[in-house]
Amino acid sequence: MTKKIPYSFTEKKVIVFDLDGTIVRLVADWHSLFKALNSRFIEKYQKAINHESMSAILSSVVKLGDEEELQLNFNLIQQYELENITSNQPIKEVIYFINNKELFGVSPNAKLAVFSLNTRSTILKSLEMAGILDKFEFFVGREDVRKWKPEPDGLLKILDYFKVDAKEMIYFGDLEKDLLAGAKAGVESYYIDTLINLVRNIKKS
Ligand SMILES: [Mg+2]
Repeated sequence: MTKKIPYSFTEKKVIVFDLDGTIVRLVADWHSLFKALNSRFIEKYQKAINHESMSAILSSVVKLGDEEELQLNFNLIQQYELENITSNQPIKEVIYFINNKELFGVSPNAKLAVFSLNTRSTILKSLEMAGILDKFEFFVGREDVRKWKPEPDGLLKILDYFKVDAKEMIYFGDLEKDLLAGAKAGVESYYIDTLINLVRNIKKS
């Protein structure tokens, strides 16, 4: 291993991963899902707000204090996510890292967690299908917070669960909102590509 990477795992007690685009690639019809959520919102509240994302729609529902509608939205998201779950593509380098983390200087006592915008069933099912569910101890999914990435709430929840310092955690994701959430939580965060390259270099040597 000669390639320099910007982080070290030796002091880390918890390694957190995003799910979609980080551990696996989901193949849900996000466009139709967004449209379905948006139509529900307009029909239910008779308000046409220009929502930019699914999280923005859900945030509006949270602001209206409508927990029942929020649960129905979670169910709809879950339904779309699970529809094509068997077509999930695991990202093989990341699966390799998770299965062989000690090769990368990760302490054998380090814990793994997922912080994702996908629903819990999607997280659990995806990890199960990739054969790595038992490597993980804690999961924060769509239903587990009321403020979504780039807000840091999910990471704060994970810090609280493991009772570790932000410095003892590291987070990998594939989007800028992942890194923003990390920065807001004071948790070192990196694009998953850095880890994918590290795995490729280790396997080559
Ligand atoms: Mg992602």
